[in-house]
Amino acid sequence: MKGVLYVVATPIGNLQDITLRALSVLKEVDLIAAEDTRHTLKLLNHFGIKKRLVSYWSEREKLKAPEITQRLNEGLSVALVSDAGTPGIQDPGRELVRLAIEAGIEVVAVPGPSASIAALSISGLETAEFTFIGFLPPKKTERSKKLKELAMEERTLIFYEAPHRLIEALSDMEEVFQERHAALAKELTKMHEEVVRGSIRDILTALENKKIAGEYVIVVEGRPERLGSPPVEEAVAEVKALMKKGVGRKEAVKSVAKSYGLSKKELYDRSLQ
Ligand code: SAM
Repeated sequence: MKGVLYVVATPIGNLQDITLRALSVLKEVDLIAAEDTRHTLKLLNHFGIKKRLVSYWSEREKLKAPEITQRLNEGLSVALVSDAGTPGIQDPGRELVRLAIEAGIEVVAVPGPSASIAALSISGLETAEFTFIGFLPPKKTERSKKLKELAMEERTLIFYEAPHRLIEALSDMEEVFQERHAALAKELTKMHEEVVRGSIRDILTALENKKIAGEYVIVVEGRPERLGSPPVEEAVAEVKALMKKGVGRKEAVKSVAKSYGLSKKELYDRSLQ
């Protein structure tokens, strides 16, 4: 009989957030596939669990996933864990889950924390519909492009960001999202936990003279209806600017519509007005 792959969420800081079910699965499986075995060892030691660990970090994922699938095929049960939160959510895991499903292995979720949902739940922003973006591209040009693509998104947006890029990312967000409401959640469930809510400008102001360290989630309001027209106006202006530089209308509309998430036809018609 084939084994079962358990995808086990672990705490994002506070170890008390481990679930009872996660503990019993970690105790019962034959093998734990961990993003970083040293990290997971600390968690296991804390809960007095002794188990065979196999390393499974993202760059080795392509290599390791077939090996672990083989173990599952042989009948071993495996728990997949990442360093923190839910595996596969901006963490390795997707490849193993995909291979296991392909091999007809049962894949079971052992749900628990994820920084994304934790931050959204206390953001005060709309939770009915949201879009998880995760990390933005590190380079400014690509980051701005990605943000422009999201300018028309009506659902609440959730971003992860590294501390050394936090200010640049927020500044770029302010250019695109302007006055929208946002929340910055720092070090959730940990000693230095902090949440700042307000406009992106308010958040940037609150960060002045503060030590930027630790882990951050940024939650931004989706496009409010009252802001429905400015991005279109902005996009039309961009089309016109490109045309002044000699780019043909059709080509300019195509590239700007894509980066603003607008319909080509609508933008083309508006650019003629
Ligand atoms: N798999 C994890 C999850 O389910 O949330 C995410 C892992 S990702 C590599 C790490 C990023 O998640 C951090 O850079 C930060 O943006 C966010 N994060 C993780 N733990 C956090 C915490 N305690 N407080 C705020 N953000 C956190």
